[in-house]
Amino acid sequence: MSTAILQERQDQMCRTESGSKFSIVCDKESLAGAISQRACVFCGSRVVLYPIADALHLVHGPIGCAVYTWDIRGALSSGPELHRLSFSTDLQERDVIFGGEKKLYAALMELIERHQPKAAFVYSTCIVGIIGDDLKAVCKRVALKKGIPVLPVQSEGFKGNKRDGYRAACEAMFNLVGTGDTSAIPAKSINILGDFNLAGEIWMIRELYNRIGINVVANITGDGRVADICRAHGASLNVVQCSGATMHLARMMENEYGIPNLRVSYFGVEDMAESLYSVAEFFKDKEVMARARQVVKDELEKIYPQLMAYKKALNGKKAAIYVGGAFKAFSLVKAFRLLGMEVVMVGSQTGTEEEYKELQEITAPGTIIVDDSNPLELSSFLKEKEVDIFVGGVKERPIAYKLGVGFCDHNHERKEALAGFSGMLNFAKEVYSSVMSPVWKFMPRMEAQND
Ligand code: SF4
Repeated sequence: MSTAILQERQDQMCRTESGSKFSIVCDKESLAGAISQRACVFCGSRVVLYPIADALHLVHGPIGCAVYTWDIRGALSSGPELHRLSFSTDLQERDVIFGGEKKLYAALMELIERHQPKAAFVYSTCIVGIIGDDLKAVCKRVALKKGIPVLPVQSEGFKGNKRDGYRAACEAMFNLVGTGDTSAIPAKSINILGDFNLAGEIWMIRELYNRIGINVVANITGDGRVADICRAHGASLNVVQCSGATMHLARMMENEYGIPNLRVSYFGVEDMAESLYSVAEFFKDKEVMARARQVVKDELEKIYPQLMAYKKALNGKKAAIYVGGAFKAFSLVKAFRLLGMEVVMVGSQTGTEEEYKELQEITAPGTIIVDDSNPLELSSFLKEKEVDIFVGGVKERPIAYKLGVGFCDHNHERKEALAGFSGMLNFAKEVYSSVMSPVWKFMPRMEAQND
């Protein structure tokens, strides 16, 4: 086992071996001092709710929390852009001593007056959890005065990890669901959960669903609108991508309104096609299924020749993946396979045991699987496996470049659409450009040391 792994973290990493029993420990608190790549609870809530474009997002806490998550996603809106403004109560020492409730009330009243949002989300941060401000009571008072939903998000940063933040965000949103009029919603309708409209991806996905005859009620949350979330209980099915972020909302809607859910992924041609087929299957409509087949055929015909050209150049190259949720990693493993590449390391910040087990089943023997990793471990894995490209987010990019390894951003800051059929082509193009870049001649790859 690698020397870069701390003794206390040994059971959070494993190497796949054919025939042997797979075991990994996950879903636990990060080891103190291990410099986890994970974000805090507040950040988890913020990334889920951020794309709701006509809501006010107020961070109750010190200014740093708001700055850290300011404009945190590349989530586009087709209309209002209130979500892109980051508001904070800017708590100071005086507020810590005497409490921040008055300041929060005044900020909410002023901001709602000025921006006329359809709802307001108020995020709790570490310091609010410590001083004990009654967020719920303040939100309730403002909601009564202003006549819009004002929703507390119980996301005190220290009380868990990013995954707990997803849960807090889902619980806040669930207060909206069930409050809108559903009378005009057709039977063949879905909600899209867990797509955040990075680089306009949800528009592409909605268009594909529309082409097969499926109506979309609410985007949760990419290019999201408060009114749509309020009537989301009128849809027949919740189609959930990035299950870690929004599965909790889907489960609550199933319990309360009896809406079933389906887990899908829009990354890679196999999973994109499978998403359309499984939705068509759910509605048991032959016409919808025939249209889904036609759409897949048409889209593949457009991109396949170019994909094969990239495959020829990339054949045999090695890839490493480290992403927020493990579900995305399944699609990436398949997408790399389509390009003739081998995934030699795969990890995530918040994966579950079942997800890691599934990753073990679809990767080759010897692949490193790791939970809640850190820069030192990731660097040692990249060197050991001599990878050609690393897929991750903003915190992984410098690790790759410092080692002389190609990089592809697949996180929420990216500006390139990677979902859907055309997204697969963009992905292949980006991987090709990074792996084959002439810059690596001038930046030799760092080798693993034999220590
Ligand atoms: S909530 Fe806490 S951990 Fe999160 S950014 Fe603010 S201070 Fe940092």
